[in-house]
Amino acid sequence: MTDYTPQPPAAGCRNAPIVKERGQREVFCGLTGIIWLHRKMQDAFFLVVGSRTCAHLLQSAAGVMIFAEPRFGTAILEEKDLAGLADANAELDREVDRLLARRPDIKQLFLVGSCPSEVIKLDLHRAAERLTERHAPHVRVMNYSGSGIETTFTEGEDACLATMVPTLPDTDERQLLLAGALPDVVEDQAVSLLSAMGIEPIRCLPAHRAAETPGVGANTVVALTQPFLNETAALLERRGAKILSAPFPFGEEGTTAWLWTIAQEFGVSPETFAKVTDAPRARARKAIAAARETLDGKSIFFFPDSQLEIPLARFLTRECGMKAVEVGAPFINKQIVGPDLDLLEEGPVIAEGQDVDLQLDRCHAARPDLTVCGLGLANPLEADGLSTKWAIELVFTPVHLYEQAGDLAGLFARPLRRREILSDLEG
Ligand code: SF4
Repeated sequence: MTDYTPQPPAAGCRNAPIVKERGQREVFCGLTGIIWLHRKMQDAFFLVVGSRTCAHLLQSAAGVMIFAEPRFGTAILEEKDLAGLADANAELDREVDRLLARRPDIKQLFLVGSCPSEVIKLDLHRAAERLTERHAPHVRVMNYSGSGIETTFTEGEDACLATMVPTLPDTDERQLLLAGALPDVVEDQAVSLLSAMGIEPIRCLPAHRAAETPGVGANTVVALTQPFLNETAALLERRGAKILSAPFPFGEEGTTAWLWTIAQEFGVSPETFAKVTDAPRARARKAIAAARETLDGKSIFFFPDSQLEIPLARFLTRECGMKAVEVGAPFINKQIVGPDLDLLEEGPVIAEGQDVDLQLDRCHAARPDLTVCGLGLANPLEADGLSTKWAIELVFTPVHLYEQAGDLAGLFARPLRRREILSDLEG
């Protein structure tokens, strides 16, 4: 029987020692997730309860949205607004009433908490319950924290999906649930490949609209599409769902392993699997090969940022010939990224959390060919002669599955090519 399970190296990284750091970190806060979540959930509104800083972050990060009907905003709470908590709650209620009166298209409203102490003092969970009662059945109000004190940027999505899980209806239906916000074009590809294997029904969390919200129960099988959904996965499991354990669908190999794990769960034959995946697998391999010419033999260093670092290191080392020097991730949950750690050959430093100065020292000492990091670290590293890739691009660009595998490899090849061209010109 053909087996599509990838061959692990003689020694992988699952049991490698982890450098745990709890110092200063340089990452965006969880509010950033609103930028991609609001595109996905078309009748949702994200009301950030925060400061002018939060409003600026959203406006600058989502500047493109000025041409569209906005689906997020900021209720700015300042100290002068607060005669007491009762006033703040009343102000929030008034703000929500005004918004919902103006925008009857909103069916789900998320109150998103932030850092300022005035906001931390507010009980947004209770506010969400109070406002749900007031606006039922038209609108469900939920809350989560996107605060930079509690969340790194992809954790905002985890917190958002996690707050939805207890509200999902019960179902006994045997179904596949794809959990994680994918760009629509990528989600369509996933659903189309899996449907062609005969798997149905397939539901998605988050759904495009409140009316399409999936149910969950003991016969729900969950395939995570993103490696940062720790809390969401735990809560789905608590609702009885089975969480599949698989490498994440980055690159040809990762996508095949992810699809094969789902296919086995649903009893798809190797012949059917081959019929559906042979052509896109070949396309993906060919597309990756073009970028591999640049990436082969080059070293890479990941600062902890998007939580995609471990699956991406697996893809870049196994399919593009790169050498990982250090792979840092904000959190390492082996239940979720264990299959990727199994496939990542031992050797790189595996680091969890951050102490930015110590990590910068290690990066300077290693002088990797490419460093993946946040915006704040990229400029100083570039000034020091190192090539960098902004981690945030990996979240904003469609990178999952076969058809995007070449683009994913290309994202890493581009800064290396640019530096080669510059040094040719200088030379
Ligand atoms: Fe800044 Fe905190 Fe607002 Fe994020 S939530 S923009 S870290 S103040």
